[in-house]
Amino acid sequence: MGSYLSHLECTACGGAVSAEGVQTVCPSCGKVLLPRYDLEGVRRGVRPRAIGERPRSLWRWFEVLPVRDPAHIVSLGEGDTPLLPAPRLGRTLGCPHLFIKDEGLNPTGTFKARGQAVAISRARELGVKGVVIPSAGNAGGAMAAYAARAGLPAYVFMPRDAPEANRKECTVMGARLELVEGHIGDAGRASRALAQRLGLLDLSTMREPYRVEGKKVMAYEIVEALGWRFPDAIVYPTGGGTGLVGMWKGFREIEALGWAEGPLPRMVCVQAEGCAPIVQAFLAGKGSAEPVPHPHTVATGLRVPAPFADYLILRALRESGGAAVAVSEAEILAALREMASLEGVFPCPEGAATLAGLKRLLAQGVIDPDGRIVLLNTGSGLKYLDVLPLGSSPAV
Ligand SMILES: *Cc1c(COP(=O)(O)O)cnc(C)c1O
Ligand SMILES: [Zn+2]
Repeated sequence: MGSYLSHLECTACGGAVSAEGVQTVCPSCGKVLLPRYDLEGVRRGVRPRAIGERPRSLWRWFEVLPVRDPAHIVSLGEGDTPLLPAPRLGRTLGCPHLFIKDEGLNPTGTFKARGQAVAISRARELGVKGVVIPSAGNAGGAMAAYAARAGLPAYVFMPRDAPEANRKECTVMGARLELVEGHIGDAGRASRALAQRLGLLDLSTMREPYRVEGKKVMAYEIVEALGWRFPDAIVYPTGGGTGLVGMWKGFREIEALGWAEGPLPRMVCVQAEGCAPIVQAFLAGKGSAEPVPHPHTVATGLRVPAPFADYLILRALRESGGAAVAVSEAEILAALREMASLEGVFPCPEGAATLAGLKRLLAQGVIDPDGRIVLLNTGSGLKYLDVLPLGSSPAV
């Protein structure tokens, strides 16, 4: 078992960069770097069905992950979350093949664990001395957990109004937490300054090349769970876009490996009306997004007013023949109750937003109700108890 990582490639200028040292953004143009693999080698050396016989873990996909030596893996049991059929919810929507990929079962309660497991493992392998991140909440919590497990010092910059669970998970796991006024963009400036001053690796969304690799594994797991067939649509709550860009990369790799037959799924981006830079750009036919001046939504993971990878998210939506839709706070809360009461999944508000977005797109005739549709529930609603207005139960 070995990684087939070959190099890093710039998504803007196309330049190739060595993957054997610590890298952040493209040294020539400052844009996003993505890892590339010798997929021909993987194709010859690995049978996808053999991967299915390995112990359940994100690390079953080691050959298409960037860690060279398995001894450097830092794991808390991430990945291999269930792809749950959602028949009761599907019946109310007229969608006979509806699924929920429930990422709430990951360590730290969200899919951010996937990205941090891979980024921290690779950072430790490359000899990084400490890590820092600006986070809307869950990425910081996950980084704190994996840094603790790796024995690395960790620093997190988070908006003051992030959910209580996010603030407490950072401090209990020994990270230094600084609360900033404003949103993740404001946290980003403080984080980059500290990275420079203390020589830390900045794990900001899409500003380092490996978090996206942990998230891409969701694509492999979904296709495997469907019997090595692609779904028709992936409905994804988009903030910084790591998951959407990562999964699209994963689907393309699976196609290149010949492990599933096309067509590839349509990628669908759902955002909150209070912060929908990608939806606005997509609907306007633009290749990049305008920053949102006063971002607000209870779905804190979607409160990313100026995603660094805007052009990559938009590229994935267009290449896949996808769609984008914004939903209101009321729609998010109604969808949250609906998913929870019909399927027993207590979604995070971001995950609930995918259901609200699907309803809109079905009504607009944009999505085929008969296709295999996957809603990404990116985390557990249990992390949001203090920010969700859920009211009390009806009396017995
Ligand atoms: C971070 C986050 C998102 C957005 O993820 P991206 O991949 O950065 O777009 C969605 N849901 C939850 C729960 C998150 O923590
Ligand atoms: Zn470049």
